[in-house]
Amino acid sequence: MDAYFDEDASLDIHRNKTLAIIGYGNQGRAQALNLRDSGLKVIVGGLQDETARRAQADGFQVLSVAEATERADVLALLIPDEVQRHVYEQVVSLRLRSGQTLTFAHGYNIHYGLITPPPDVDVIMVAPRMIGVKVREAFEQGSGAPAFIAVAQDASGHALATALAWARGIGATRAGVLKTTFAQETELDLFQEQGLWPSLIRSLLTAYECLVEAGFPPEMVALEMYGSGESAEIFREMGRVGFFQQMKLHSQTSQYGTLSRAKALPYAPQIRQAMQEALETLRAGRFAEEWRREQASGYPSFSKLRAEAEAHPLNEAEARMREILKHRLE
Ligand code: NDP
Repeated sequence: MDAYFDEDASLDIHRNKTLAIIGYGNQGRAQALNLRDSGLKVIVGGLQDETARRAQADGFQVLSVAEATERADVLALLIPDEVQRHVYEQVVSLRLRSGQTLTFAHGYNIHYGLITPPPDVDVIMVAPRMIGVKVREAFEQGSGAPAFIAVAQDASGHALATALAWARGIGATRAGVLKTTFAQETELDLFQEQGLWPSLIRSLLTAYECLVEAGFPPEMVALEMYGSGESAEIFREMGRVGFFQQMKLHSQTSQYGTLSRAKALPYAPQIRQAMQEALETLRAGRFAEEWRREQASGYPSFSKLRAEAEAHPLNEAEARMREILKHRLE
């Protein structure tokens, strides 16, 4: 895989250019602040509301999406994926001109053909592998969040350099960026959400239910499973020292118990099958179609799923756990 660092990326291509960020949420705010701190000219486009006031308070000029599109050399759509198509069709596409660059932080809308830019604009992606607040925090601490970059259209002949400059401006090349495609970034991201996380979530809920049925206090179970932050620490160490190497930070009893029982899990083949099905479904575009229909009909299934999740007794256990520990957990 091609990997790029600070020394491979120059900010020069963005100098004397106007970088417009549409949306001032998770990624929008972090990227706008980082790019400006990297010495680049950034404007923000959005609705004139609370978010706009926040951007203004941070010292940005906030324009309508239409005006920002007109002024931009590089335009980043950092609004929720579900609204990107609408904003693109209703506003951006009517003003986009030859030579501009359209930037995304996730490949979804381009990959599934929901947005089809004209052939004379560059289409790039710089997708941080981190939530927005951490993209900002890492930058302020002198490091950065790694990212995937990709080029879907290279009308100018320098789309990759533009993507690398953006990645450098937000601090991503400090950590390293990997070059991929819109297809791979989208499929991997969705697989993480639809293949991997469901099995982890299901396992945690099953463990909770099993332990509470066996008489353990629910708040104690919530603390043990994730409330103390130990599980988050395990994931952090997996990234830092290695998936298996981090086990050495735990007792031998823990290591033996985990490795022996993981290997003997009787339902592992079913998990693999479910993961393969998830991958096939999203690759074939069936998930994108299901999600499009869900949005168009006002989120009936999503609302039901959310309501079910919010009614799970784990929420109450968690609240009691926090009450007992007097909210001192971070
Ligand atoms: P957010 O949900 O944080 O975006 C909110 C922003 O979008 C607000 O400023 C909101 O303005 C604006 N917005 C919403 N609807 C509209 C609209 N119709 N017109 C104009 N502005 C609108 O988005 P994220 O930062 O989470 O996601 C942005 C992109 O980054 C997505 O492609 C996502 O997949 C990608 N990404 C996100 C990550 C994350 O950290 N969440 C990580 C990596 C990639 P208002 O408040 O005025 O409605």
